[in-house]
Amino acid sequence: MISKIIAEDLITKVKKAINGVEKIAIVAHVGPDGDAMGSTLALCHYLMSVDKEPTVIVPTAFPNFLNWMPGSDKVLVYENDKEKSDKILATSELIFALDFNTPSRMAKMADAVIASPAPKILIDHHLHPDNFAKVAISYPQISSTSELIFRLICRMGDFSRINLACAECIYTGMMTDTGGFTYNSNNQEVYIIIAELIKLGVDKDDIYRKVFNTYSADRLRLMGYCLYKKMKVYPEYHTALITLSGTELFQFNFVNGDAEGLVNIPLSVLGVEFSVFMREDTDKIKISLRSQGTFPANKVASDLFNGGGHLNAAGGESFLSLDETILKFEEALPNYRDFLE
Ligand code: 5GP
Ligand code: MN
Repeated sequence: MISKIIAEDLITKVKKAINGVEKIAIVAHVGPDGDAMGSTLALCHYLMSVDKEPTVIVPTAFPNFLNWMPGSDKVLVYENDKEKSDKILATSELIFALDFNTPSRMAKMADAVIASPAPKILIDHHLHPDNFAKVAISYPQISSTSELIFRLICRMGDFSRINLACAECIYTGMMTDTGGFTYNSNNQEVYIIIAELIKLGVDKDDIYRKVFNTYSADRLRLMGYCLYKKMKVYPEYHTALITLSGTELFQFNFVNGDAEGLVNIPLSVLGVEFSVFMREDTDKIKISLRSQGTFPANKVASDLFNGGGHLNAAGGESFLSLDETILKFEEALPNYRDFLE
């Protein structure tokens, strides 16, 4: 019913790799988002259904609004549980690396994953994957890794093993990586897959509420403050910038996840095609970039901020001060004029 995107030889290789082993680790990127959690947990549920022993390990904690996800209570957070995680990684017979394209996206967990003798299988939708995996299932045209997991399970002939927990995880990743189906979501097959997930019992309205409507009052106030006081618009460059210093974050009792989605809001201003959000972290400035149409957010991320990502959603980091980072950005903006529509 849906087209065969993943090459046949890759399906065979994954099947063979799974068949021969029991202990499997599934890892994702630092600051795991809905797709990182959705894809890893969906694969975990599937592997349990074929009697494997999978463990999901993420480098840093996932946001609270994902802690309802089935299986999330068993996820190991590397920075909180390093010893146990190192042991599992070292003794795993197979490691799935999901939703990232380069080991550095695993931050402090990268060394342990790379050092493990287990063969790695990459499943991802970011451009230009590094060559660190034995098998690489990399399809940047697919809008989420969770969708790739659905496609992979189906192609292995195991659609019937997708239980409700697995389906909920797949749906969450598909929904979050497309901003609730508002970008990267024109592929009609996305909706064929969603129809299948709903048939399996997924309550999509409920998942939307659980993921998107769980703001704390502090988070909402922080958003209000950003939009009222901190959003700078550069009309000649169709660009908007929001920045938050550590002091400002402290004022609003910032916790991880509180700034999630904020970077998208300026795109709702008529004429704004490119939106950037910078936030002071303990040892760096974390930068999120979003664009509309053909403006390459990932190019700006890699040119200026050691980052990358997708055309319309990218990220990076800066080790300059916040003010210096802002200056660097403003000075570089004219260079991207030709990409504006
Ligand atoms: P976010 O703004 O939500 O943190 O990230 C959006 C997308 O940008 C992610 O899905 C990921 O593809 C990419 N991204 C975020 N941070 C980084 C980074 O530091 N390096 C690279 N290469 N990509 C990033
Ligand atoms: Mn993703």
